[in-house]
Amino acid sequence: MKVPLLDLKPQYQSLKKEIDEAIQRVVDSQYFIMGPDVAKLEEEICNYLDCKKAVGVSSGTDALLLALMALEIQPGDEVIVPTYSFFATAGAVARLNAVPVFVDCDPVTFNIDPNKIEEKITSRTRAIIPVHLYGQSARMNEIMKIANKNNLFVIEDAAQAIGTQYKNGKFVGTIGDIGCFSFFPSKNLGGFGDGGIVTTNNEALGEKMRIQRVHGMEPKYYHKMMGGNFRLDALQAAVLRVKLPHLDSWSAKRRENADTYSKYFVEAGLATEEGMLVFDSQNKVLLPKAVYKTSGFKNHHIYNQYIIRVENRDSLINYLRQKEIGCEIYYPVPFHRQECFAYLKCKDEDYPVSNNAATSSIALPIYSELSNEQIKFVVDSIAEFMKAESK
Ligand SMILES: *Cc1c(COP(=O)(O)O)cnc(C)c1O
Repeated sequence: MKVPLLDLKPQYQSLKKEIDEAIQRVVDSQYFIMGPDVAKLEEEICNYLDCKKAVGVSSGTDALLLALMALEIQPGDEVIVPTYSFFATAGAVARLNAVPVFVDCDPVTFNIDPNKIEEKITSRTRAIIPVHLYGQSARMNEIMKIANKNNLFVIEDAAQAIGTQYKNGKFVGTIGDIGCFSFFPSKNLGGFGDGGIVTTNNEALGEKMRIQRVHGMEPKYYHKMMGGNFRLDALQAAVLRVKLPHLDSWSAKRRENADTYSKYFVEAGLATEEGMLVFDSQNKVLLPKAVYKTSGFKNHHIYNQYIIRVENRDSLINYLRQKEIGCEIYYPVPFHRQECFAYLKCKDEDYPVSNNAATSSIALPIYSELSNEQIKFVVDSIAEFMKAESK
């Protein structure tokens, strides 16, 4: 049985008529840059996330770059980021010649560990970028407290977490100063190419980012400040507007799939009900834990990725690939070990949790249209592998 890591075709098929019409409408108008669909998407995202301003941009990466530019992060300024994330979180900081300062992650969620932030703060620190990794909120209360105490900005990298609610019910990306989202096709709300959006409850900051999105230009050909070409395509906005009303049901289906995985893993004797068996009890699987599940909000986790941990990760990957089961490592190399950040001279021993995550984590298929049979096949295959390994 083939189980791809992600298959976008069934989602498109289910909305084909509406999406094709939306695309055709933009093509007929020949209005490709900005325009009514971008403005409407921004309004709809504000309503959906309950925030004041949203500015559609060219990618999640550019969302981060624009946020840092709007907050006037200067060369030499330090910005605290988790060491375990997609490259863009740190890359955006380094591109401005600011200094990304890496913090280890929490062993349960893989999100930035708030207990390890304060020791990294110096007189040059200007901002913290928590990442809501895999679709679950970072510990925002603690992070906001540290930021307020030390007069730091908070930019939330919510690229993997559109629609996720924190335990206070707020949507991630609306808690700090600026939220950054990505519409990369594999995110829960994916476009037909690159795209992203920034959100804020600070009207002035929202207006500034709107201007910086087009080269800091206002009015036309008069440049108040530096910006870039950070625009979202009209075609992307049109597609995303068709998809947005379905986002919650897609994310609900991913949560259901996660529960189905847990059920099968427990039945196979590979995990306890809590999914929290540890490595030293041989052959066991560590399941992802939704830490805010009991807080009463359905969107406590949107499972952009479903990550399990196993000790013999690399041989499991080979085994699954032979069986045509898609899987991936998010992420094999934490920032402090990346070649491009060697100049920062990080101490590897400062990051034990991320180093461990990098060698033990594996993403399994979780997309909405996955069938229970496919999930069962994945779990059965892992059980088979574990049995063979323990001989
Ligand atoms: C996807 C992603 C980004 C970048 O988004 P793009 O749209 O691909 O530029 C940034 N941060 C995280 C955590 C991501 O997962």
